[in-house]
Amino acid sequence: MAYQAEYIWIDGTEPSPLMRSKTKIIKDGKEPGIWGFDGSSTNQATGDNSDCVLRPVFTCPDPLRGPDDILVLCEVLTVDMRPHPTNSRAKLKAVVNKYKSFEPMFGLEQEYTFMKDNHPLGWPENGYPAPQGPYYCGVGGDQMPGRDIVEAHTLACLEAGLAIEGTNAEVMMGQWEFQIGAIGPLEVSDQLWIARWLLFRIAEDFGVFATLDAKPMLGDWNGAGCHTNFSTNAMREDGGWKHIIAGCEAIGKKVDEHIENYGVGIELRLTGQHETAHYTKFSYGVSDRGASIRIPWQVYKDKKGYLEDRRPNANMDPYKVTRVIVNTVCEAASTAPAKKAAPAKKAAKKAAKRR
Ligand code: ADP
Ligand code: MN
Ligand code: MN
Ligand code: MN
Repeated sequence: MAYQAEYIWIDGTEPSPLMRSKTKIIKDGKEPGIWGFDGSSTNQATGDNSDCVLRPVFTCPDPLRGPDDILVLCEVLTVDMRPHPTNSRAKLKAVVNKYKSFEPMFGLEQEYTFMKDNHPLGWPENGYPAPQGPYYCGVGGDQMPGRDIVEAHTLACLEAGLAIEGTNAEVMMGQWEFQIGAIGPLEVSDQLWIARWLLFRIAEDFGVFATLDAKPMLGDWNGAGCHTNFSTNAMREDGGWKHIIAGCEAIGKKVDEHIENYGVGIELRLTGQHETAHYTKFSYGVSDRGASIRIPWQVYKDKKGYLEDRRPNANMDPYKVTRVIVNTVCEAASTAPAKKAAPAKKAAKKAAKRR
């Protein structure tokens, strides 16, 4: 029997790209091949030269349709089969190949906000809900709007075979999070895009809209981020601590380049309040949720593991974020191997002072 393949891609909308998809019926026994679309309708081409190419890069079962149907994430090419300027995956691939020996791994914490009638789900039509406090990981009453959508989305991610790790309600009412990882940079990015598409698509069925806007409500309300947890093989092994510190130091030398790639509107979110560090400042510290990079307590205890860059926005492009992190950290490690780092305690103190 024929099956349905949902071709999914990332468009050229400025300043934040949108996800697009369309369905192809494929005769049984056939693979989902190259396809095309009208780039003049997605800000990826002009009307007089409108064809763009879709090349499948990741497929998985489609949890919303029949058992034989699939989701097909694609990269966008021009008709001469070169990466389209909006194709950030191709650039990540080059960096991943260059630094393969570091075996980089990422876990991404995707925060997002459900919206209905132009305000976050569950908010009163006029005015505000009770101040932040009870919502983070909360339960009960009418305080946790959207949980039914979260449950449906989690099941869908599992059925699609994605590396979803968990979910939680966030600090602002109507805001939630899921995590994907810890896997390689291309894998985590492809899977995050698919998980986002599933979120948008499932929210449709509930008459709700899910936004990745990094600061959906100005004022005393938390923004939405995508904390990016990162490690190399050296960080994960015994003696990893000095590599983690070297990674933090390397990232701290390229603040502008990183912030540029961490998502649209980052100045609105990284204000220095609401568990963020100001976007112009750089700091790292153990357990510090007000630092740019947090080293989790368990990592400090084990003296190995990973670091958490807390700055990327919810609306970030994972192909860009994982690329700059791998590039910065692995380039620095290749040119100047990590020195014997200061004893853990001293480094933590030093980082804390810097705040
Ligand atoms: P928190 O909310 O306290 O910051 P979460 O549980 O939401 O923590 O997320 C922790 C993330 O750390 C997960 O995405 C997980 O994949 C990631 N992680 C754990 N170990 C590693 C590792 N060695 N390398 C990269 N990421 C890791
Ligand atoms: Mn989290
Ligand atoms: Mn969170
Ligand atoms: Mn986090």
